[in-house]
Amino acid sequence: MASKGTILVTGGSRGIGAACVRLLARDGYDVVINYARSAAAADSLVAEMTGLGRSSIAIRADVGSDAEVTAMYQEIDRSMPPLAGLVNNAGILFEKALLRDFDADRINETLRVNVTGSFLCAREAVRRMSTAQGGNGGAIVNLSSAAARIGSPNEFIDYAASKGAIDAMTLGLSKEVAREGIRVNAVRPGLIHTDIHASSGQPDRVERLQDQVPMGRGGSAQEVADAVVWLLSPAASYVNGVLLDVTGGR
Ligand code: NAP
Repeated sequence: MASKGTILVTGGSRGIGAACVRLLARDGYDVVINYARSAAAADSLVAEMTGLGRSSIAIRADVGSDAEVTAMYQEIDRSMPPLAGLVNNAGILFEKALLRDFDADRINETLRVNVTGSFLCAREAVRRMSTAQGGNGGAIVNLSSAAARIGSPNEFIDYAASKGAIDAMTLGLSKEVAREGIRVNAVRPGLIHTDIHASSGQPDRVERLQDQVPMGRGGSAQEVADAVVWLLSPAASYVNGVLLDVTGGR
């Protein structure tokens, strides 16, 4: 299959990002797998994608670092077909805690990775894809969260607030670049089976809370990736500025 262009998936080494990488390669895109620490997982995913006949590279870069994001995009410019899209997926959360016990380091790190990281990666993608700057257009999908509207009381209000910022960025940027051939949307997953819950000290979080989901179960990374890949695709050519819940109705 001829390449449909390159998609950068930040945090593509594991979880929802890795599921996006697999579906994008299946659909004929070349994929850049960004990661922070999991070099072995990213390298093995690259091997899987090249085995499917797609171009794929893994790039270690902290999305919250301006210099590292700039260098990552320069490497993409050198090594890959033109950028057609960005999945702003890299995200973190800290241990479950009450807001009264937060310190500035925790709050700032959550915002640095989840918010600044998404802004920096979007900035570089817009500079390359904008038809006003010589690009071919493209699409950006931001990973927000149902936490943005629930607020995550007693767990991680800092994380919920970072996703509220992603929603606002999605709405603003979707209007800012709509006439430059770029669509910007967000997916807001609910309780999804990935390792992120272990980082909040609650590896069984989905099982414990799934009764709150009208559908009575947690979702899979692939069910989220299906929505992301649809929003990136030409099938969503008139969908812009949408915050799409993938939550089983929660
Ligand atoms: P995950 O399994 O914990 O994976 C997180 C990914 O982000 C990993 O690939 C990780 O790389 C990468 N990452 C972390 N910090 C990074 C940094 N500073 N720079 C670059 N990459 C970094 O998470 P997930 O559950 O798949 O979540 C993916 C996205 O969906 C996140 O934005 C999350 O907030 C959102 N989301 C998830 C859920 C859920 O229930 N799972 C619900 C709502 C929203 P390494 O492998 O190198 O560490």
